[in-house]
Amino acid sequence: MKYALVTGGSRGIGAAICKALAKEGYPILINYVSREDAALEVKREIEEAGGAAELLKFNVSVPKEAEEALDGWMAAHPDDYIAVLVNNAGIRRDTLLMWMEDKDWYDVINTHLNGFFHVTRKAITPMAKKKWGRVISVASLSGIKGMPGQTNYSAAKGGVIAATKALALEVAKRRVTVNAVAPGFVETDMTKELDQNSLKDTIPAGRFGTAEEVADLVAFLASEKAGYITGQVIEINGGLNT
Ligand code: NAP
Repeated sequence: MKYALVTGGSRGIGAAICKALAKEGYPILINYVSREDAALEVKREIEEAGGAAELLKFNVSVPKEAEEALDGWMAAHPDDYIAVLVNNAGIRRDTLLMWMEDKDWYDVINTHLNGFFHVTRKAITPMAKKKWGRVISVASLSGIKGMPGQTNYSAAKGGVIAATKALALEVAKRRVTVNAVAPGFVETDMTKELDQNSLKDTIPAGRFGTAEEVADLVAFLASEKAGYITGQVIEINGGLNT
């Protein structure tokens, strides 16, 4: 059976991706780090809609935790594999570089960029062996375009984009595609303290995006129809970067 693993699937964009991929028929592994209540709610909603989901708790930034959780799941599911991996887990620790503490820099890099490495290196081998897979990482406009106050986040997301392009070439012949999506402003817990009213005037579409809009794009990249798209970064930002 082909499973889909969504890191940071308990809230926001990740939760919407879990539900969208469940609608496509995938049993979902909902990864989270602390909010078990939120992860259980996503599981409940998927099951209520007729889908299947299980929780897989681990901190993507801790290599041993990610490895043990994934090895444990794989050992318990010898006939199944993770065919779709969505690297979505993320945090923000915005501040100007001149004031940035070590922890702000390392936590953000460890979560996004090293998290990509810890999870993807485990999932990619079964995909290559089975000759079908999808790796989709949720990057950001900040990984493409400079954003003041986000040198840590921009470096992490830019790194994920570059890693996506390189990995895509390593596995293309095995029918494994590797892509990134780069959202602009999306309404979630991560952006709840931003002043939407003033920021939306800077967005050509005149509004923040929704988690469901990003999830629909990810579901398309995960589908059979997207089999010839690889090594790409698809922007979804209401026209913020044309
Ligand atoms: P969110 O609502 O704050 O949710 C973050 C999710 O990541 C939660 O499920 C959280 O789990 C999980 N998470 C955080 N650190 C983790 C770790 N170390 N290990 C495992 N899971 C972890 O954020 P969001 O807005 O949906 O963002 C999702 C992704 O989109 C992030 O990569 C973010 O950088 C990217 N993005 C967001 C926006 C935006 O405007 N919102 C724009 C561009 C890109 P718990 O529930 O257990 O805490």
